[in-house]
Amino acid sequence: MRRLFACMLLAWLLLAGAVLSHAEIKTCYLCGQEITGKYWQHQGPGGLRLFCDRCYRSSPKCSACEIPCSRDNLTKVGKEQLCPDCMAQARFCNLCGNRISGRFFTSGETGEVYCENCYRTYPRCRACDRPMRRSSLTADGVCLSCEAKLPKCKSCGKSIVGTYFSNKYNGDYCPDCIRSRPECYACGAPVSDVYWTLPDNRCLCDTCKKQSIFREDQAREIMNEVVKLVAERLGLVVERPWQLRLDKLNTEGRASALAARQGLKMASPISGNEMGIYIEREDRREIVLLYGLPISMIYETAAHELAHAWQAENCPPNQSQEIREGFAQWVAAQVLKLKGYSITLEKLQDRTDSPYGTGYQRMAKIESRQGKAGVIQYVCTAIR
Ligand SMILES: [Zn+2]
Ligand SMILES: [Zn+2]
Ligand SMILES: [Zn+2]
Ligand SMILES: [Zn+2]
Ligand SMILES: [Zn+2]
Ligand SMILES: [Zn+2]
Ligand SMILES: [Zn+2]
Repeated sequence: MRRLFACMLLAWLLLAGAVLSHAEIKTCYLCGQEITGKYWQHQGPGGLRLFCDRCYRSSPKCSACEIPCSRDNLTKVGKEQLCPDCMAQARFCNLCGNRISGRFFTSGETGEVYCENCYRTYPRCRACDRPMRRSSLTADGVCLSCEAKLPKCKSCGKSIVGTYFSNKYNGDYCPDCIRSRPECYACGAPVSDVYWTLPDNRCLCDTCKKQSIFREDQAREIMNEVVKLVAERLGLVVERPWQLRLDKLNTEGRASALAARQGLKMASPISGNEMGIYIEREDRREIVLLYGLPISMIYETAAHELAHAWQAENCPPNQSQEIREGFAQWVAAQVLKLKGYSITLEKLQDRTDSPYGTGYQRMAKIESRQGKAGVIQYVCTAIR
């Protein structure tokens, strides 16, 4: 009975041995020796590998996949040592340098990766969201490479992150400045730290202020030139005498402007803001220009109001606002073109408001078909 048991045991061992060496001879991945006894197999990034028991027990292991390695093949990284396969596949945090085993964050732009801990604990660039050392961020909280690329607010000079207001005439502005800073009366942009408040409470940005006309003799000189240009180039001559006045904007001025608009002739809040007015009463004809406007806008307004004075003598009195203002804008555009004030001209041409923008578009269309003479002919008779 006992012998039989011994024979059975032997048979089982042989059988096990046969299974073990069934396909081919197994060799140890490390020592290259044929494996005869107990062995270990390891499925890692480099595929299935076999190790003899002695090698397995005596060799250092890769910290990541735990494969036994010869010492030469392990690379020390921080506290870890990695096999060549794991080394090739490993991600290292760009900040702490450690291998990332769990969640990681990657910057789509640079491909840099960060471990969860660094991503959560370091300050991050407001623009690209990359975590970094405090010293790599500007006072404004953006990294240097973002700082170089981001648009700058024309008011505060800071990099603009996220939404911003872009204005093709003036530039880009951050939402903060749009919200908190006064708007320049002339260009409409939020002012920078240096700006001017005029006695009539209008604000002017420094750029507009530098180009602005404050003295009546300067305005008169411009007006004389406009009168000459409009007569020579368009053949429009105002017969009856009128006065020029340079005035400030005040509640009184506004009231009189409104009165003029309702009861008398033409007022012109060009560019949405009051810039000039043509006043016609029994005893007095007057063109009033707002002082403290940039020179190009003085030319624009002078030509616009002069056109109204001409219309008063040459056009049907019941003409629609669109024709009346459209023509005055068209005359202003001709003067801006002649003077080369291209940005002010572009602003005028881009307007879509009624009656100024729509009126101008109508005149421009007539001009493209029938020329300047066609426009003047049209405005002399058209009512609606
Ligand atoms: Zn071995
Ligand atoms: Zn490994
Ligand atoms: Zn890290
Ligand atoms: Zn950045
Ligand atoms: Zn700003
Ligand atoms: Zn301005
Ligand atoms: Zn007008």
